Amino acid sequence: MIAQVIVDVAAYPVDRPFDYAVPDEWQALVEAGCRVKVPFGPRNVLGFITALKEETDVPQGKLKPLSQLLDIEPVLTGEMLQLAQWMTKQTLCFEIDALQVMLPSALRAKYEKTIHLTGKLDELPAELQNLFGNKSSIPYKKVEVAGLLKSLKYSIGQGIVQIKTVVKQQGQVKAVRKLKILDDEVKLQQIAADIPKRAKKQVIVAEWMVDHKGAIFTPEELCQTLDITTAVLNALIEKGAATYIQEEVYRDPFTKNAVKTKPLALTDEQEVALQQILTAMKSELPTTFLLHGITGSGKTEVYLQAIQSALEKGKEAIVLVPEISLTPQMSERFRSRFGELVAVLHSGLSKGEKYDEWRKIQRGEVKVVVGARSAVFAPFTNVGLFILDEEHESTYKQEDSPRYHARDVAIWRSEFHQCPVILGSATPSLESFARAKKQVYTLLTLKKRAMQQSLPTVEIIDMREQLKNGNRSMFSEELAEAIRIRLEKKEQMVLFLNRRGFSSFVLCRDCGTVVQCKNCDISMTYHRSQEKLKCHYCGYEEQVPHECPECQSEHIRFFGTGTQKVESEIYKFFPEARVLRMDVDTTRQKGSHERILDAFGRGEADILLGTQMIAKGLDFPNITLVGVLSADTSLNLPDFRAAERTFQLLTQVSGRAGRHDKPGEVFIQTYTPEHYAIELSKEQDYEPFYVQEMQMRQRFAYPPYYYVVLIQVTHEDVLMAAEYAGKAVDWLRMQLSQNVGIIGPTAASISRVQNRYRYQCLIKYKKEPNLTAILQQLIRMYRTDWVKKGIQLTVDLDPSSI
Ligand code: ADP
Ligand code: ZN
Ligand code: ZN
Repeated sequence: MIAQVIVDVAAYPVDRPFDYAVPDEWQALVEAGCRVKVPFGPRNVLGFITALKEETDVPQGKLKPLSQLLDIEPVLTGEMLQLAQWMTKQTLCFEIDALQVMLPSALRAKYEKTIHLTGKLDELPAELQNLFGNKSSIPYKKVEVAGLLKSLKYSIGQGIVQIKTVVKQQGQVKAVRKLKILDDEVKLQQIAADIPKRAKKQVIVAEWMVDHKGAIFTPEELCQTLDITTAVLNALIEKGAATYIQEEVYRDPFTKNAVKTKPLALTDEQEVALQQILTAMKSELPTTFLLHGITGSGKTEVYLQAIQSALEKGKEAIVLVPEISLTPQMSERFRSRFGELVAVLHSGLSKGEKYDEWRKIQRGEVKVVVGARSAVFAPFTNVGLFILDEEHESTYKQEDSPRYHARDVAIWRSEFHQCPVILGSATPSLESFARAKKQVYTLLTLKKRAMQQSLPTVEIIDMREQLKNGNRSMFSEELAEAIRIRLEKKEQMVLFLNRRGFSSFVLCRDCGTVVQCKNCDISMTYHRSQEKLKCHYCGYEEQVPHECPECQSEHIRFFGTGTQKVESEIYKFFPEARVLRMDVDTTRQKGSHERILDAFGRGEADILLGTQMIAKGLDFPNITLVGVLSADTSLNLPDFRAAERTFQLLTQVSGRAGRHDKPGEVFIQTYTPEHYAIELSKEQDYEPFYVQEMQMRQRFAYPPYYYVVLIQVTHEDVLMAAEYAGKAVDWLRMQLSQNVGIIGPTAASISRVQNRYRYQCLIKYKKEPNLTAILQQLIRMYRTDWVKKGIQLTVDLDPSSI
């Protein structure tokens, strides 16, 4: 028997399977989809069996046997193997990358050895105990470096530790120990009473524990939450108030308070949408629906009832959300409806936790998966429905190889399973809406808010006027007044600082002019080191002007503020305000999103201040004001989607206000109130924006009228990067037809990352049948030759940002 194996050797220029002989003793065990180890050159590498066959062209003497069988049950289904082949063609990636991305990272290959504690820690020689600390596994390297291999060998002989060399499978052993608070109120109270009064901290913690009896936390979480040192915590552990546990229970942050909900009586609009979905489901047609519903129109309830119907048919459902740790409220709604049938996959889970969830899916213990992008690969075998909520979000596109879009994968899988896909959004991507207009997708529309509330009123504030009237602060008079009123009425508000990426631009504070490229209609990017403005599409550059080219004002300068600065401004203007800040700095800790949102939900703050993170998914009844401090930042990104992103963001944040009985009010501050993306966000009406933006896209030949491909070339040496980007462009010009536009090469908008210089070029085309083949040839040239010179080349078909 011959196994056809895709090997994990990404540097190899040719991407194809290799044949290996299956040793007799494994013939009954191997299946396509199993992981194996195979000899490849001088090494043993990981591979996936993609097919089994009887014959091979490899001559007898040259055929090598599999060296190790890692699974006796396949980790990938036949569907996944087919999907991987499709992704390889679709995204021009290595097949191995496509296979790997479908598996939880705990199952992915890493050739590091790890040492696992199998016996008791205190049986180990002291020097090894130190290395372990409180971990249950450590890298082999650590022991090697410490020169303790002899002790290690001895301990292995004693059966206290084991080496795992196969792959790093953190999935099976929990790396973190947790603390379980005693589940006995009386005893806890006893412990609290026995603590000497001068140990104040201990007393407070002990009393807190009474209220949290039986709860499980990591030691770090406890110390953070209670603001105590480990010494205090250890004292309580010694007294028996909490004990360390090996966290074998499936941890899940969202079930804690899930209250069971029942299906709501649908509005007429919801009912019409649902019925169409159910009809498609019944007739087993792989229809793609675009559910376009304004914020608060009850899209989620439609998802929930469609899922329910799939479950009743004995099928499964996969729900994708843009970034689930940012939207705990969303996953809770699925949990509340379907309870234990739901698995939640999100980036906040450790590798091991993700692996647990994945196993539940694989074993069929759950029927619904809610997760971010990669959950689209959930290994269900009888899917009845795919859902992408907020389908316009760029996080659905993976930025590294394989550069797949979750929407495309969901649609592919829906054809395999003969089931519908729902793409939901208040502000669909232009591509999707255009497809719906052409009836490639079926459009479903919700025009009214589900609970009859009206959309919040939106006021656009011209910050140029504020400056003219002598107000140099970041709050317009109108917004400041609105904040004051909310503070008095004890209502809550969200202040949104629009910040994205590293991009910076130069803006005139008198007239709002941002210098644009003459050729591309894209904002020029400011380069501080050279005091220059550059266009990252076509390479055009000019000096930073000292006065505004439009109005000659001198108030033209670099634009951008951080959340911290805003926070201190708020305290300056409104000393009585209580502010919760949510940005990358305050959310580094696992679970901190939920903590901040929970606190806000409990009314512990008046103002939630944040970046993009707070734009989505919040549903709090007491929010009556949303303030957007600077609408311009995303508008001036050097990206052809800048206007679309801005409109989406403004509509999303505005949608946070007045979702329940209290009416909402929104203030959008801007230096360019006349820009259509801002003007039209006032009405929160998608279609007029769509019409305008489509005209722009047509005029400048961008998607969805044209397809774009982004090619990036990087090297440590700037000249090499430029030279090879040039070579790529010259070569492409020769190969591609006249109708294809090739722009560049130019330095990328973030021109250096991790000491590698980045150059890029953009291909625009409408129809180019040979494009894939030509790009594959370019990639082959790169892999066989350029890579040796330290070049890295990436090809991104349909990039989500540029
Ligand atoms: P969307 O996802 O479209 O922004 P949601 O699903 O969050 O909207 O719904 C907004 C609010 O309306 C939620 O509080 C939800 O519980 C409520 N809601 C949705 N559908 C109904 C309905 N049919 N009857 C009553 N309330 C509803
Ligand atoms: Zn000006
Ligand atoms: Zn340009």
